[in-house]
Amino acid sequence: MNTIDVVDLASDLIKVGSLSGQEHAMAQLVMKRMQELGYTDISVDENGSVLGYVGPRDGELALLFDAHMDVVPVAGQWTVDPFGAERRDGRLYGRGATDMKGALAAALCGVSQAAATGKLHKRVAVSASVLEEVIEGYAIGAVLDRCRPEAVVICEPSKLQVKVGQKGRQEILLTLHGKPAHAALPHAGRNPIEAAATALAALRDMPLPQDDILGSAFLVPTDIVSDPYPSISLIPSSVTIRFDRRTLSGETWAEVRSAIDACLRQAGLEHFSLEIATAAVSTYTGQTIHPERDLPAWHLPDGHALVEAMCQAVRDAGREPETSTWWFCTNGSEAAGRRGLPTIGLGPGREEDAHTIDESVEIEQLVGARDIYACLCLRMAGVQN
Ligand SMILES: [Zn+2]
Repeated sequence: MNTIDVVDLASDLIKVGSLSGQEHAMAQLVMKRMQELGYTDISVDENGSVLGYVGPRDGELALLFDAHMDVVPVAGQWTVDPFGAERRDGRLYGRGATDMKGALAAALCGVSQAAATGKLHKRVAVSASVLEEVIEGYAIGAVLDRCRPEAVVICEPSKLQVKVGQKGRQEILLTLHGKPAHAALPHAGRNPIEAAATALAALRDMPLPQDDILGSAFLVPTDIVSDPYPSISLIPSSVTIRFDRRTLSGETWAEVRSAIDACLRQAGLEHFSLEIATAAVSTYTGQTIHPERDLPAWHLPDGHALVEAMCQAVRDAGREPETSTWWFCTNGSEAAGRRGLPTIGLGPGREEDAHTIDESVEIEQLVGARDIYACLCLRMAGVQN
């Protein structure tokens, strides 16, 4: 079994472009590095996600570390090569450095570091999943269909803080139905754009739930389009507003929908429909999927054994644990939100650095994540258990 430097591995991963749905070359590289690091039963599923194991083949699967391989496109004026993996002032630069090739490298190295001690009596797996940036949770669902971990670690950036939950995300389409007419004879029609203005004002003031752990839910309009588009000299037949609803634990689409419906009716609207958005997404393996964009929130209760284990692992690695929650959505929506698997988050880098121009990660964070992951493996899959 080889060891590979975590920064070298993160650099190798950054140099390979891997937009969502185009992760093929990246998956090849991950499989190769898994082999070099001594992983066994390395496989690629129908979506193209890579899964590999360490530890005794007959052992239970104690932990699955999940990191996604895809990155968002390079946008804006970069001052460094987004695929150059430049190292400067203690940081590693490139698209995906923070979100989340650095974390994938840390998981691959940390888990193999734990296996190299010879002390694992249970198995640990790492999944390098696809498409997280476009549809959180979808790809890890297929991974979890074929392995049954006792707990899941989401390796998204957290500054090495222990993340005990996240808000969920629903992408909602509100369609206001009108009656088309010539714009020169507006009273002959019913203008859905006027209805959209009423709807936006009513929904902006709509009270939303909040809790002590995840904070306040949000309902944010993100686009609006008429049908036909463009609609020239014509009152359109409909207008669709897309909303991003950030949800709290336990909130279902049925509840959210009925609250929005009631709010709109109270504002005097009646010709509208509400649905969860779906969109065709293609995998690099040639599949086209139509996932519903309804990703549930989750959080672990205080004092949960997994929180204790992760906090201890952070201490084992010589650091002080801090717990918090993520403000964005992750693959944890599937693992914890839908499947109820004990799930926790911890990863290198600052959440605020994800998707930015000149994205970078502190090298010290990569080393820290690797060591914490190794310590967690030994705690949860090691012989002392
Ligand atoms: Zn991410």
